[in-house]
Amino acid sequence: MTRVLVINSGSSSLKLQILDTAVEEELAWALVERIGEPTGILTVRRTALSGQSAEEHTEEAAFPDHTAALSRVLELAAELQVHPTDLGVEAIGHRVVHGGPDFHQPVQVTPEVEADIEKLELLAPLHNPANLRGIRVARDLLPGLPHVAVFDTGFFHTLPAAAHTYAIDRETAHRWDLRRYGFHGTSHEYVSRRTADVLGRPYDELNQIVLHLGNGASASAIAAGRAVDTSMGLTPLEGLVMGTRPGDVDPGLIIHLIRDRGMSPEDVSTLLNRKSGLEGLSGARDFRALLEGVDDDDTDAVLTYDVVIHRLRRYIGGYWAVLGNVDAITFTAGVGENVARLRADSLATLGQWGVEIDHDANENGSGERLISTPDSRVKVLVVPTDEELAIARACDEVLGLGPHA
Ligand code: ADP
Repeated sequence: MTRVLVINSGSSSLKLQILDTAVEEELAWALVERIGEPTGILTVRRTALSGQSAEEHTEEAAFPDHTAALSRVLELAAELQVHPTDLGVEAIGHRVVHGGPDFHQPVQVTPEVEADIEKLELLAPLHNPANLRGIRVARDLLPGLPHVAVFDTGFFHTLPAAAHTYAIDRETAHRWDLRRYGFHGTSHEYVSRRTADVLGRPYDELNQIVLHLGNGASASAIAAGRAVDTSMGLTPLEGLVMGTRPGDVDPGLIIHLIRDRGMSPEDVSTLLNRKSGLEGLSGARDFRALLEGVDDDDTDAVLTYDVVIHRLRRYIGGYWAVLGNVDAITFTAGVGENVARLRADSLATLGQWGVEIDHDANENGSGERLISTPDSRVKVLVVPTDEELAIARACDEVLGLGPHA
């Protein structure tokens, strides 16, 4: 039996899950949000286990930093009898957003690995410092356990040069490792492998398009088990329209804002990371709120929805041309798993390409399922993502602990 604590440490949030990888079950879960703000919110949950009922504790309090947040989570976990030590946790897995050009696989964290992750902060200033903080805080508060870093970029190290090369001066690109890396790789790999399992087909015989649509959103093209294109690039800004990020924009727009309109690079970063996408266009980053606006015929909401769908269609069509032939299209993450209308609309023009949605399965089903008709040449699926489980399995493999090793 292998038990793993998975940590996803963001700049102002900390998400934890303890999983048993032998039975692939969650044992406990915690989330702390608004770390560093005057009032934060913390939830610790014990999952219903054999002989024990589920129990949850939520509190609002100030958590000045990640150390304070994790300390309090561990105190409450001990009260709920789900402290990592009580549960026999053997390893800690961390989501690390940017693995740069060298980290292709999950690795055990050593001082050298830590130094390399730190160097990559230049490429991912919004993510890697927070991920590293999670590693350091967990090591201080839970000493003696091995740590494994699982990189969001890892799955995309197979991108062909034609897909990962920016058409800019080669010397400049080489000097600073400027290329497309891709993100959400753990999710794209997990979901594409599940898709093959659901279809009962060998993974390396399928051509797939995976659409991970959450607050962050990305698409990938996978040819015979190998990622051949993805929509995020050097940073997680490129590609699809997201909760607060615009996805693709003309790079000239950025030059214009800085050189001709007097915006500072910091202002532009805030504009592109926090004030664009759904938030920038409609005032609401949450897809549920956007859909309410669409139902009310709110002009901004309708335009936003149309921009989201248009961009999705462009990527799906583009990846189809890259792959030549598509066996399966899979939707995942908060929006992909829950918004039937978006799934139907983004594929609505593809009838002649062999995509036929089963509207009943699309609108009324739940969880992992096929949503195309039996006659549809291309299979369309919904597969809930589980990045935590994928990270926990990766810990098993790297450390040689469990059944997946
Ligand atoms: P992330 O992990 O990137 O923060 P999620 O995968 O949790 O994001 O997705 C969050 C998005 O999913 C939000 O825009 C949210 O509104 C949307 N979402 C979640 N559940 C639903 C639902 N039932 N209906 C519509 N949108 C939903």
